[in-house]
Amino acid sequence: MIVTATTTDPLTAADRCDRCGAQAYVRVVMPSGQLLFCAHHAREHAPKFTALATHVQDETDRLLAEHGAGAGAVR
Ligand SMILES: [Zn+2]
Repeated sequence: MIVTATTTDPLTAADRCDRCGAQAYVRVVMPSGQLLFCAHHAREHAPKFTALATHVQDETDRLLAEHGAGAGAVR
């Protein structure tokens, strides 16, 4: 995987969670590169990456907007 310079482009359907391959809604930029997470894994890994991240782009609000507030209960 080629990690390009820090970018804050909006996440798209082509951006996939590094853990499970679901659509990514959170981009974590770190000095060593960046990670993409779905909402589920962003929550799961937040305690680890927040200490390292230089920037966290959280678009999980968009997930709720697209799927309805009720979808937020899915785990
Ligand atoms: Zn995931």
